[in-house]
Amino acid sequence: MSLRSIARRTACVLAAALAGTALPALADTLVDNVHGTTIGADGQPEAVSGLLFDDTGVIRRVFHPGEKLPKKGFAYHVDGKGRVILPGLIDAHAHVMDVGFAALTLDLTGTRSLAEALERIRAFAAAHPDRAWITGRGWNQEDWGLKDAAGASRFPTAAELDSVVGDRPVWLERVDGHAGWANNAALKAAGVTAQSKVPTGGAIDRRPDGAPAGVLVDAAQSLVAERVPAPRAADRDAALAKAQALLFQRGVTAVADMGTSIEDWQAYRRAGDRNQLYVRIMAYAMGIEQMTLIAGPEPTPWLYQDRLRLGGVKLFMDGALGSRGAWLKAPYADAPATRGLPRMNETQLGNLMSRAAMDNFQVAVHAIGDAANRLVLTTIDDLAATYKGDRRWRVEHAQIVDPADWPLFGRNGVIASMQPVHETSDRTMAEARLGPQRLAGAYAWHSISGAGARLAFGSDAPVELPDPFAGLAAAISREGADGQPTGGWQPQEKVSRAEALAAYTTGGAWAGFAETRFGRLAPGLRADFILVDTDPMTATPAQIRGTKVSETWIGGGKVWSADDPAAVGK
Ligand SMILES: [Zn+2]
Repeated sequence: MSLRSIARRTACVLAAALAGTALPALADTLVDNVHGTTIGADGQPEAVSGLLFDDTGVIRRVFHPGEKLPKKGFAYHVDGKGRVILPGLIDAHAHVMDVGFAALTLDLTGTRSLAEALERIRAFAAAHPDRAWITGRGWNQEDWGLKDAAGASRFPTAAELDSVVGDRPVWLERVDGHAGWANNAALKAAGVTAQSKVPTGGAIDRRPDGAPAGVLVDAAQSLVAERVPAPRAADRDAALAKAQALLFQRGVTAVADMGTSIEDWQAYRRAGDRNQLYVRIMAYAMGIEQMTLIAGPEPTPWLYQDRLRLGGVKLFMDGALGSRGAWLKAPYADAPATRGLPRMNETQLGNLMSRAAMDNFQVAVHAIGDAANRLVLTTIDDLAATYKGDRRWRVEHAQIVDPADWPLFGRNGVIASMQPVHETSDRTMAEARLGPQRLAGAYAWHSISGAGARLAFGSDAPVELPDPFAGLAAAISREGADGQPTGGWQPQEKVSRAEALAAYTTGGAWAGFAETRFGRLAPGLRADFILVDTDPMTATPAQIRGTKVSETWIGGGKVWSADDPAAVGK
């Protein structure tokens, strides 16, 4: 029933575009005047010159250069106007709701002075009179040159925030997440006073009279953060709509949501029930508890014409390299007293993975440091003897892997879910943290793939932009947006264009058990495709980075167009 209605809606959109055309019961659509590439069933790139899909949004035929395209036998015609056609891109690791929330809250990154920040805060509050709290992030007082009376660097104050928003609480996270800035309404709402007990591992910035000055550091942030009201269902729905628009404008048609909560899931279901879920979400629950809460005894079926499924669980083995939370085999080069920390021990990891696997949930484990990666890989190796069959164990990030452990990926066909842009953003930091000896195992896409891993590429948005073209450029060049370093960082780990495109399409589909549904242009699969201005198989990395998406299609329906970027799925 709903399949028909989706098809009918699609057909209506197309019919409206061709006003006056009669609407046949069965209506195929031909896309022509395009050239581009899909990854074929054999994993090799395949040139595409046209596409025919039916009124349920399933591809009937793919045309290749030299083949004659039909002149009749279809009802609708999409003129590609000579643009490049690609399969819809898949982001294999992102946080869908956070992408939306990050875009809907106040962003102070890039402010050069307190005055500039205050003006941005004032304008944001004025534009959102309905919000009970104003929340945001991204400030850095080092960039503002704030000094106290003695000339020392100081934090901004609650009084300064009050000067622009005094009528309701304001709570703004510092750029690194290690401090928060409150106005007096927020301090009052949280009951923070001169007498407040400071949580262990935290600090309260104080005025000379001992009263809280406005900024709370590290663990003390929870005093206010816990009082910020949880988003309402309507806020979540707005965030999901925003996230979809941001993904579509970058050509992403499917995404693995890495850490889905029950509230996230309910937002996806509400959107699906209202025919407003356009993006395909492969959801991985945030831990075992959320997994059973959302899905119960087994993975959910695919819902809404392959747009939503809870197929697995996300677990955390360690933290991140920047904060030295990644768990290393040997001490940090720039902090010899620490190797970082595992978030659980071997037994706990084995138990959680077993718990998921016994009910046939797929397991995805965050592992950044080489010690974390080794433990996850050896645990998979152990469990693979018990949990047989097609498990598709996933390692998320696989950022620093000891070359001695690379073969463990191949032994069990483990999926390496990696984020090419992390390499270009973090290489200098990685050099400092790891020293020269361990760099061969950092962001080692080519070697890990060569060892038999299945690559799936993603962005980790909103940590990075959900931009697969930046990722494709980084993957084939190991150069940043500035072209540095020339020739690429650890250039032996570049991957070929075809391999990069595969990791953003078929690799992501495989990693989500979706390869028979979407991920490439082939008969029987969903007609998910994009029309862009740049061919990633021939363009320079800089050109690929600058790719403009003109149209995004999912299941045979146009969900986004650069001509009307505010409209999604209309
Ligand atoms: Zn993540």
